[in-house]
Amino acid sequence: MMERVYIGLGSNLAEPLGQLQAALAALAALPQTRLAATSSFYASDPLGPADQPRYVNAVAALDTTLEPLALLDALQGIEQNQGRVRKAERWGPRTLDLDILLFGERLLDEPRLQVPHYHMHARAFVLYPLAELAPDLQLPDGRLLSALLAQCPFEGLERLQA
Ligand code: ATP
Ligand code: MG
Ligand code: MG
Repeated sequence: MMERVYIGLGSNLAEPLGQLQAALAALAALPQTRLAATSSFYASDPLGPADQPRYVNAVAALDTTLEPLALLDALQGIEQNQGRVRKAERWGPRTLDLDILLFGERLLDEPRLQVPHYHMHARAFVLYPLAELAPDLQLPDGRLLSALLAQCPFEGLERLQA
């Protein structure tokens, strides 16, 4: 079954714009998957430790027949290919972060994968680019994207020219 998946992309090391462009090319090349749409790129203030560069973020829409854990494996492979080093510190700087925000209508609570992404509702750098792609989106748990946006100021965020 083909399902619509939204991926949050982020980078704040080693030329973030180039990292996101390479990641989008890698997403487009995934098996059983079509890259359906890409948001604008945004600069954002870092979450967590403040002594790190600003991020570049975007959201991509995929149509895929991959199963969720197979997609997660593939995303982690792309992160590795682009030099992601996992450190003990949470939310530290990274060349590439690829998070599954939504996977069709699924609600997943597995050790390796929680969907919808547990904190997407509070992240401006996720909600605003997502709204470019799907302004009328309703999450599988019933929440409306428009309602989440109303609670999430456009703060620390800057839309970049294409
Ligand atoms: P955050 O999740 O707060 O954005 P992060 O993206 O920096 O932090 P990572 O180090 O990229 O966190 O991932 C930690 C683990 O989160 C991964 O190993 C993965 O198994 C798990 N995970 C759980 N749910 C998801 C999801 N929806 N998308 C991606 N990874 C997830
Ligand atoms: Mg993340
Ligand atoms: Mg992640």
